[in-house]
Amino acid sequence: MKETTRAIHTPYQRRDAYDALQMPVYHAMAFEFDNAAVMSDAFCGRTNAPDYSRVLNPTVTHFEEIVASLSGAKEVSAFTSGMAAISAMLFSTVKAGQNVVSSRHLFGNTYLLLTNTLRRFGVEARLTDLTDSKLVEKAVDENTACIFLETVTNPQTEVADVRELAKIAKKHGIPLIADTTMIPFTQFDGEKMGLDFQVVSSTKYISGGATSLGGLIIDYGHFPEISRLIKKDAVFNLGGYMTPHAAYMQTLGLETLKVRYERQADSALRIAQMLENTPGVESVGYPGLDSHPYHKLFNELYGDRAGAMVTFDLKDEESCYKFINALKLVHRATNLFDNRSLAIHPASTIFGPLTEEERIAMDVKPTTIRLSIGLEDVDDIYADLRQAIEAATE
Ligand code: PLP
Repeated sequence: MKETTRAIHTPYQRRDAYDALQMPVYHAMAFEFDNAAVMSDAFCGRTNAPDYSRVLNPTVTHFEEIVASLSGAKEVSAFTSGMAAISAMLFSTVKAGQNVVSSRHLFGNTYLLLTNTLRRFGVEARLTDLTDSKLVEKAVDENTACIFLETVTNPQTEVADVRELAKIAKKHGIPLIADTTMIPFTQFDGEKMGLDFQVVSSTKYISGGATSLGGLIIDYGHFPEISRLIKKDAVFNLGGYMTPHAAYMQTLGLETLKVRYERQADSALRIAQMLENTPGVESVGYPGLDSHPYHKLFNELYGDRAGAMVTFDLKDEESCYKFINALKLVHRATNLFDNRSLAIHPASTIFGPLTEEERIAMDVKPTTIRLSIGLEDVDDIYADLRQAIEAATE
């Protein structure tokens, strides 16, 4: 079966007692056993029967199995949020005294996880330019635990060549981990391009209209000890396993993922093209545009649809505030890939708690607006953006 069919028809592990068409939400926190031996087998991991929903739940397992089928993963683990997945991934990979090689361009909380939280446990964050293989080679040493990247950085829209990073990771025998939140795993073959693990905020594209928080670790099984630590150590001891209700919502989200992605990416390209020709707009950041510095590389890696995040710059911060305040249809809200179009001024919000020096180092500019293009009619979205740009720049 092709993936759009598998997204809807992946069978459950066990037939439902009532033959429900959709996977029921098993909102039970504990499960009963016929006898002591079967119970011991489940608790000791000799069978995969659910015992307690902090560590295993049939609705979550079903969601994980569909993601595995769509991504080609050997194993998938679902978490309560993208940050829970990223934390479980890094705590399972890194030890005190080691370092993580990553980018200066990271999602705000991932940056703080690496530079604050993990630093307190004796882990060094080596933030470099992942688009420059020579700098990456220089940063990696015998204490490097992994290379961590984001496929399209937010809001800088930078794209590193995963294939080059994979060569370096392989040479040093360390995993290459990518946060692929920006481009869903249905759009590319992560294993073929050299990834060992993907981490995803499934709150975004996967949830289907911002219905629920969630995170994923997509594991190709190349590092069995890390896989074991994720499933047995992080899930059990850190907590953060996905809730059954979120798994139900996100299973529904998967059913429409591909059509939503295609429609939103097509609209985003049109919006980006129109913004390029809109007076008052200084520049537009969208990898789907021919003019984007990473356009060709993006197409080679992730195909000809470049997602729903578009950024653009106005002349100063004051104009950005005026633009945000003048919006009538597009919502003033964070999040990405909701069914609704959203706008935010990243420098004063997501990156607001950082110092100005940190923002400059991360290339988060006070003049940038980030849009997430939704499923509304594209002409309506553009009309609202245009009137707000006129109001901001007159
Ligand atoms: N990674 C990226 C690229 C993100 O944009 C976000 C956004 O919030 C996260 C991770 C964190 O995900 P969550 O909010 O689900 O914890």
